[in-house]
Amino acid sequence: MSRDAHALAWPAGPVPAGAPLIRLEGIHKWFGDLHVLRGIDLDLAQGQVLVVIGTSGSGKSTLLRCIDMLEEPSAGRVWFKGRDITDVRVNLNEVRTHMGIVFQAFNLFPHKTALGNITLALEKVLHMPRAQARERAMEELAHVGLSHKADNHPGQLSGGQQQRVAIARALAMRPDLILFDEVTSALDPKLVAEVLEVMKRLASEGTTMVVVTHEMAFAREVGTHLVFMDEGVIVEQGEPKVVFDDPQDERTRRFLSQVL
Ligand code: ADP
Ligand code: MG
Repeated sequence: MSRDAHALAWPAGPVPAGAPLIRLEGIHKWFGDLHVLRGIDLDLAQGQVLVVIGTSGSGKSTLLRCIDMLEEPSAGRVWFKGRDITDVRVNLNEVRTHMGIVFQAFNLFPHKTALGNITLALEKVLHMPRAQARERAMEELAHVGLSHKADNHPGQLSGGQQQRVAIARALAMRPDLILFDEVTSALDPKLVAEVLEVMKRLASEGTTMVVVTHEMAFAREVGTHLVFMDEGVIVEQGEPKVVFDDPQDERTRRFLSQVL
């Protein structure tokens, strides 16, 4: 049966009692012969800030993309709010309206203003009336400290400001969680702090987040849980401070000695 052939209605409302917001169960991903994810099990509770660290090529982005099913796992299941979203009957477009993702490249539409970039999905995907969409977009621009840039085009904004618009765009959908994939890696070092500051604020507001990052100070300070990946497996995980101060695995020690 092809995906979406018999779409299941998405259950609105809260996470069922006792269920994690996200559960990854035995996730494997092959790209041809390349075995990129080699059995990932992971739970994410509401309000958690999960930080994922690891060397380049260890599978962090692929893991993130499996959470919102931008990549379909080759094996294993992804549960979201108690529903198996690897079930072919699940309408992934609908599921994705409940998960935000922010990438390293800001992916803003260059011909639209900051405001227009945010209202687009609200109007086209959520079918929100224009006035209401503008109101919500302005709210989220204020949230990231960019009310005064609403009418500017991306080309008129710094990299840090563009990334904050991209975050505001994700927030405007009022998702259950937001996935961040190395969102500060392409930024001029002096612009990194303003983006991390926004993410820190979101965390303090209780936003559920999965953050792939090389910013170890942020990971330590803001993360509620840390995962270290190497060659497609979770080598070590735990409370960030504990993993940083007392890594148990030789691979974790080697990685941390290179980045700290
Ligand atoms: P990370 O984000 O940790 O750097 P990735 O998840 O991007 O790692 O990539 C893990 C491995 O999978 C790399 O070897 C990468 O080249 C490979 N890979 C990622 N995406 C694809 C794809 N779409 N097709 C083929 N190989 C891919
Ligand atoms: Mg990556």
